[in-house]
Amino acid sequence: MTSMNNNSTSSKVSDWIDISVPLKSGMVHWPDHIPVQIEQVRAIKRGDNANLSRMSMEVHTGTHIDAPLHFLDCSANMSQLSFDTIIGPARVIEIHDKESIKMAELRQHNVRNGERILFKTQNSQRCWKTDIFTEDYIFISNEAAHFLADVGVKLIGIDYLSVGPFGTGNAEIHRMLLRAGIWLLEGINLSSVNQGNYELICLPLKLDQSEGAPARAIIRHISQK
Ligand SMILES: [Zn+2]
Repeated sequence: MTSMNNNSTSSKVSDWIDISVPLKSGMVHWPDHIPVQIEQVRAIKRGDNANLSRMSMEVHTGTHIDAPLHFLDCSANMSQLSFDTIIGPARVIEIHDKESIKMAELRQHNVRNGERILFKTQNSQRCWKTDIFTEDYIFISNEAAHFLADVGVKLIGIDYLSVGPFGTGNAEIHRMLLRAGIWLLEGINLSSVNQGNYELICLPLKLDQSEGAPARAIIRHISQK
């Protein structure tokens, strides 16, 4: 730590934290999705004139955005995503419950209309350590999803592959949130991030008319002075 240059106005590029997960062959994915495959199809060291990679994956693997169209036919798709939804202040809320995000914990946080909320659960520490799919990840409970839809937050981020539970009830949680116009940022890793206020920049791929898209997401702490 240095106390020099207190008056410096130079922007510190290094304080951005990458909360997206690396895409690589063999990484974890939703059980009935295809595996991620990234292969080098041309290599200079094999005599080709360039290095060239090819990838195949489902667009809901790794860090990605769910558009309302994912669970609601004829609703908004990725082409209708506003930059205002994915760029701006965001609050990281830490959840300690070992099963799901419940009202008992959530109501202490005074969630307000229009907020971008990123949930840090134990998923961040636990689930990304393995390429084997974790079925008992922490999800948003029915009552909490209902509340978030009512409040009308702008964006919800969750630190594993789905906002809903694995199996029964998953689609209902998605529909409840997406119907309220909330876009979902799934598959983030908040293990190196503390609860607090941040600015978020998330830029999903411009997949025309798609119901979702892989995304890069970075956040930077906003110091309250
Ligand atoms: Zn998704």
